[in-house]
Amino acid sequence: MTTTPDTLTVAIEDLNPYEQEVPPNSRAHIINPPMNTHIWEPGMETQEIADIARLTGQEVVALCGHRWVPKHDPAALDVCETCLALAHQMIGGTDDHA
Ligand SMILES: [Zn+2]
Repeated sequence: MTTTPDTLTVAIEDLNPYEQEVPPNSRAHIINPPMNTHIWEPGMETQEIADIARLTGQEVVALCGHRWVPKHDPAALDVCETCLALAHQMIGGTDDHA
């Protein structure tokens, strides 16, 4: 047993659960770290950006340019098709068969 738990993780999980009611037109947008340098630091994963934004009420910027404060579990939402297409371009290059 350790006496120094990860307080940041504990705080996020304890204080700020996902909101359960999802607006019907919500989409899960894909966060682009370099567009969110008010939160993002090198080495930080996009999930951490979303968690910190949710915890602190800060807006994040998606690949498609959408700005919002993450409040919902993205797994419960349909993915924004514009974000998805842009992400595929960034990851897959010219490969259309990914
Ligand atoms: Zn989007």
